[in-house]
Parts: sequence; C-alpha cells; structure tokens
Amino acid sequence: AQATAATPQVWFDGRMVAIDSPQAPLTTHAMHYGSGVFEGIRAYATADGGAAVFRLPEHMERMRKGAELLGIDFDVDAASEAVLQTLRANGHRDAYIRPLAWLGSGTIGLDVASLSQHLMVATMATAVHLAGKATRLGVSGWRRNPASSLPPLKLCGGYVNSILAKREAKQRGFDEALFVDGDGRVVECTGANVFMVADGQVVAVSHPDALDGITRATLVELSAAQSRPVTLEELKQADEVFVCGTAAEVAPIASLDGREFGDNPVTREFQQRYADIVRGRDAAFAHWLTRV
Ligand code: PMP
Repeated sequence: AQATAATPQVWFDGRMVAIDSPQAPLTTHAMHYGSGVFEGIRAYATADGGAAVFRLPEHMERMRKGAELLGIDFDVDAASEAVLQTLRANGHRDAYIRPLAWLGSGTIGLDVASLSQHLMVATMATAVHLAGKATRLGVSGWRRNPASSLPPLKLCGGYVNSILAKREAKQRGFDEALFVDGDGRVVECTGANVFMVADGQVVAVSHPDALDGITRATLVELSAAQSRPVTLEELKQADEVFVCGTAAEVAPIASLDGREFGDNPVTREFQQRYADIVRGRDAAFAHWLTRV
C-alpha cells in the first residue's frame, strides 16, 4: 500500500499546490487549439522499498522536442525535478505521471509568439496488475495523422485522432484500434506500438507516422527484435501480436478483426522481462531508473 497525501498535489508553474486550486482561464489557448505537449511516464515501487521513474530522461527529451515545435520554452532539468517532487509530495510509488506544457493567455489567434507558457505535473497511483485481459484489436477506419501534417510527438491536438479511433473501436465492440495506412502497412494503436512474433522472429513494427515509443525502443534493445515495416496481412498471419507503451506495458492481443491468436508464450516472456526491469529486479538495466 502506498501512502497518499490527504489532498493530491500537483506541480503548477514552479510550485506544489493542491490539485483543486490552480485556475486556468476559459480562453486558454491549448483548450481551444490543442497547443500543448504532454508525456506519459511511470514510476514503479522497487524491491528496496523505494520507487524509481522508468526512463525519465528519454520522456523529457521527447517532451522537449514537442515543446520546441510549439515555441514553448522547456527546461528538461527543471521538469524532471518537478516530476520527482510531485511523486514525493503525493507519496506515490506505483504511479502514472502526466506532465503537460501548454500555451495559455494572450491571444485567441494562431500566432502563438506572445502567449503565456505553463507547466504542470500530476501523478496518479496505478493499480499493480500482473495480467490484464487480452486486448481485442480492430482495424480503424481512420488514418493516423501523417507525419508530414503533424509530427508523431505527444502534441495535445494530435490525440483527437486517437480519440476518434478509440471511439470507433469501442462502438464496434473492440477494445482498441489499429491504425493502418493507405498502402496496407501497420502504423500503431491509439496509444501503443505494435510487435509481432512470426516464424520465431520478433518484429517491432516501424512506420514514419508512429510515435517513437520508449517502451518499443526498450524491448528492441533487450532482444533480437527486428525493426521493420509490416503489412496488415503479415500481422494477421503472425503467431503472436502484442502492443506496448508506458501505460499498456506489454499487452497481448487476443484477436485482430476476426483473426484470433492463441497462447502467447513469447509475449509473456517480454511481459516478465519488462516487469523485472521497471521494478529494478534486473541490475543490468538499473541505468534506466531514476530514483525517487
Ligand atoms: N503510440 C502512441 C500514439 C502513444 O500515445 C504512446 C504512448 N506514449 C505510444 C505509442 C507508446 O509510447 P511509449 O512507449 O513511449 O509510452
């Protein structure tokens, strides 16, 4: 059990405040246009009774890239420190961490040069579940934002594309949507990257419109997985399919449209290895952990 502060605290523009106290004007630019950038990061309780953030520098660097694109000043060290302080203030060990940098007040127009800039960090306790139920995946009727229109970074507005696909998937009785491009190549899910196991080879699906996932990079680095483009037809013929992301961790796919997948032995191995690494049980990857 983790100790939880009476009132949850959030980092807001340089200090810790009670979660219900910050006020953002209704004319907040990001609320109208999605002009912000966020991250999804996780902290895990470690065996020594402490906690650690998984790959914090990589998440912060990706956030910096998104902020730069929007013209938001972003101090990686200050934001990293804000993440750690928020975890400590809330007594969170197993937690989902949500930093958000956004454009605030100044104009309702689209020239953002004069707008105020803000940073918040919220942390939420996460349930510790070892095996969630396998996901039923449906091919989306929506296309992923092409990188030529919107770079695959965690820009707030870009997630409307994910929300539409998720809504459609749910309406059709699926758990999650799979984006496929106009040439039949697999892109990614609404918030996770895709892997397949075929002919004894683990393949990390690559696509220029997909987010360069940190979990994906982690799994590629610790295995002999091959990173390459994959067609929907190939994916349907795979022995195993799984998706991965900070929130999803390593999640087996039960079915893809009509096609059912059976047992997932390789996926379960990845799940276990990932769990060991993020929880500090594998000393070889201790460099990926930032102690809270
Ligand atoms: N794709 C999308 C669209 C996502 O939102 C996420 C979650 N950040 C991922 C992939 C997985 O990325 P990561 O492993 O860095 O969390």
